[in-house]
Amino acid sequence: MEKTIATFVDDLGPAKIICIQEPSIHLQGILVVDNVAAGPSIGGLRMAENVSMGECVRLARAMTLKNAAAGLAHGGGKSVLFGNPKMEHKQKENLIRGFAYALRGESDYIFGPDMGTNEECMAWVKDEIGRAVGLPSEIGGIPLDIIGATGWGLYHTIDVALEHIHLPLQGARIVIQGFGAVGKHAARFLTEHGGVLVGASDSKGSLYNPEGLDVQALIDIKGQGKSIIDSTQGVAGGVDAVIDMECDIWIPAARPDVLHKDNIHRLSAKLVAQGANIPLTADAEKYLHDHGVLVIPDFIANAGGVICAAMEYHGASQTASMQTIEEKIRRNTEEVLELAKKHSLLPREAAVQLSRSRLEKAMHLKRWRIF
Ligand code: NAD
Repeated sequence: MEKTIATFVDDLGPAKIICIQEPSIHLQGILVVDNVAAGPSIGGLRMAENVSMGECVRLARAMTLKNAAAGLAHGGGKSVLFGNPKMEHKQKENLIRGFAYALRGESDYIFGPDMGTNEECMAWVKDEIGRAVGLPSEIGGIPLDIIGATGWGLYHTIDVALEHIHLPLQGARIVIQGFGAVGKHAARFLTEHGGVLVGASDSKGSLYNPEGLDVQALIDIKGQGKSIIDSTQGVAGGVDAVIDMECDIWIPAARPDVLHKDNIHRLSAKLVAQGANIPLTADAEKYLHDHGVLVIPDFIANAGGVICAAMEYHGASQTASMQTIEEKIRRNTEEVLELAKKHSLLPREAAVQLSRSRLEKAMHLKRWRIF
């Protein structure tokens, strides 16, 4: 046991790991509070049959770095609940309520939605213990996937990054992998500001049109529960074809590890802005850097969602949240790119340095460093 815990621990955290079980409802879950030097942790509740403590620890750390990079007064945490998220509704409600109740005293952790949970689940948590973000609008939530909080942040990170590589957004060709909550709003904001969406994909396939795709028409098709390949706007292809499409800006907004050492040479873009979490392996990121392609790392580029969630928690309006996303993401992108240039670092290395230095400062202001 000692050995297992030692492999998870470093100078930043975790501050605590709590295992919960309640046999009467078959409840098993884990909470990892990584580091709360900057304030109570915010992180999603993931529900799946195959979650693990190791995964929970890594995800909690990702939230520590993301929240610090975003300059939020919140640390990082994560929770996992073992079970099939598609289980019977009442049973799921019972499990989530039970898990939240068991953690009612853990004020260092604020629940948010993640894979397998949604705003309704967060409403149950709020009802049990009063602490959750990502709530339904009826109880004060900001519908971040409907307003496109993360896509709005992506637009701003890209706008700043393009200045660094002296490429105008006007006329820039964009390809988006994953036309979901993140991808479609990024497409909307970028094309509203002069970009041209030439390619996109979803889990069914891809669509390409070098003359430009009509973003609203694609959003409407997705809204009808169809795939973008049901559109007649361009040439339909396989899911993987997005990697080969000629473009200036490539946005992964679907799954982890989609670009790796075996396919990275196929990409033609000058800028990659990571909407999804860890969409590129470390060697793929290094390859692009060595070939002069600018890559904005996930926890800088896709922080719009968590910034919005934190704003919701503090009672801010939707308008104020969007303004804060713009302000923070523009400033952070600028700082990361300046730091990377000054010290010849990969943008990800610069971003980690930025997060760590903010965390160190927060930790020095505390009597107990990480909690
Ligand atoms: P979503 O489920 O709304 O959309 C995902 C889209 O990707 C869907 O259109 C789906 O069809 C498509 N897709 C799935 N597999 C694919 C594949 N192999 N190739 C191409 N497309 C594929 O999810 P989302 O909320 O947009 O999240 C997308 C990614 O962004 C995830 O990695 C998520 O963790 C990350 N993220 C989301 C937010 C947010 O605010 N929603 C914030 C930060 C990070």
